[in-house]
Amino acid sequence: MIQRLFGLLALSLSLTSFVFAADERPNILFIFSDDHAPHAIGAYDGWLKSVNPTPSIDKLASQGMLFENSFCTNSICGPSRAVIQTGKHSHKNGFMNNGNSFDWNQQTFPKLLQKVGYQTAIYGKSHLKGEPQGYDDWKVLPGQGLYYNPDLKTPDGVKRIDGHCTDVVTDLSVEWLKEKRVADKPFILMVQHKAPHRNWMPAPRHFSLYDDMEMPEPPTLFDEWKDNSPAARHQELEIDGHMDLNYDLFVDLTADYDQPASQKRQDRSAWKNMQRMSPAQNKAWRDFYGPRDEAFHKANLSGKGLVRWKYQRYAKNYLRCVKGVDESVATLMDTLAELGLDENTVVIYSSDQGFYIGDHGWYDKRWMYEESFKMPLIVKWPGVTKPGTKNQDLVQNLDYAETFLDMAGADIPEDMQGKSLVPLLKGEGKGKFREAVYYHYYEYPSVHMVPRHYGIRTERYKLMHFYQFDEWEFYDLQEDPDELTNLYKSESHQKLIGEVKQELKDLQAEYEDTSMEAEFSAEKKKEFWGADAGK
Ligand code: CA
Repeated sequence: MIQRLFGLLALSLSLTSFVFAADERPNILFIFSDDHAPHAIGAYDGWLKSVNPTPSIDKLASQGMLFENSFCTNSICGPSRAVIQTGKHSHKNGFMNNGNSFDWNQQTFPKLLQKVGYQTAIYGKSHLKGEPQGYDDWKVLPGQGLYYNPDLKTPDGVKRIDGHCTDVVTDLSVEWLKEKRVADKPFILMVQHKAPHRNWMPAPRHFSLYDDMEMPEPPTLFDEWKDNSPAARHQELEIDGHMDLNYDLFVDLTADYDQPASQKRQDRSAWKNMQRMSPAQNKAWRDFYGPRDEAFHKANLSGKGLVRWKYQRYAKNYLRCVKGVDESVATLMDTLAELGLDENTVVIYSSDQGFYIGDHGWYDKRWMYEESFKMPLIVKWPGVTKPGTKNQDLVQNLDYAETFLDMAGADIPEDMQGKSLVPLLKGEGKGKFREAVYYHYYEYPSVHMVPRHYGIRTERYKLMHFYQFDEWEFYDLQEDPDELTNLYKSESHQKLIGEVKQELKDLQAEYEDTSMEAEFSAEKKKEFWGADAGK
């Protein structure tokens, strides 16, 4: 017995010394924002590039690898984060829509990293409810959190911290790097910003940014979705029809939380933020938006002129929030250099999904169309990843957990569903990394009214099924990158569509997704879509 105990002790000592001796293993700094579309990053060459929205993120791209075909599996905040924590699709990790709660007792990558000796911390937006597990330190926003002087849940209870949320999260992360990091352990630090999530409320120092210029307009600002399935005509995320002048665009916005609702599913966070502002923040707000609101009323706009004005104010506020995130990236990079950590730290920039910045006339996300399906992904790995490279492989947030574990030299559990990106980062990718990616969105009927759909995207084609209504769309992304011509009923494409449909079924079998089996009826279709239901 005693011998056996000694044996175990010796074994555990040797394991411990193996784990701690290494430590060539890289640190990982994961900078993650909310709703930051790739096309609002200069390095991604989108139509907003001329605005130069993200010089610091662009610099990171010049030092590492930018993934051009990076996608989410389910384009919405909480589910995207759950996929990252688990390396599993929504139907496997159980967090399918924002109404669900995340089961923190399940296997997650931070728990596995702790086991191999990594120090772990997360600050900012978790959006997974409950207390984070697997993190040595955490301070997270309750739910969506506030932009101004936010409350944060911490292991010691709720604390309020003064400042704009992006700066608060950056400061907590810098403080952790400087004061709480254990010198002889590798770490993963998750810096998770709320910005630029709705209601797009910037830090006061960014109010006047872009004020003296016109934002370029997206080519599809006035899309009428004529060729789409009825799903695209029955949503509630139009700049024209649904974006609210008051609580989305701040016209005459006050802290009066009880003002009457102008829409059935409105977002009240603008008022909560106004209530939370300090007198100085409130004065800066009034001084900036007040005169511009007055000018707006005088102009008495309507029709396309009003849509254009709404787009301008929306895009500017969104990019003002992005600017705060970009400054955070610069601060964190400077901090790594100051601490001598820049040579052995992988720095990753990503966001939970893409977003419509007026594309197709919309705001928000949810769809499998490119603008919200794509996620930014930029990885700087000094000495490993060739600076300034661009990768075209089909990758997903499903791959992040596996990638972190691989970087740390830890085993990747067999029940994770993604693949490590490490070979791609090392420039070792031979042949196709993946033939196609799978997508499944669940939140309907709900805010913005985007129907449930699943789909497949290959290098060239995309097939989507709005299965509650049995409506399909098929796009040739090479010929039609803006997805304006639905080819699902095209005679000449039927053979191809049949093949892609089979690939989709194969992927559903591979990922064991049977979660679409609750179908809607023909009556429901009529109730939601009226005359369009018969088309
Ligand atoms: Ca989001």
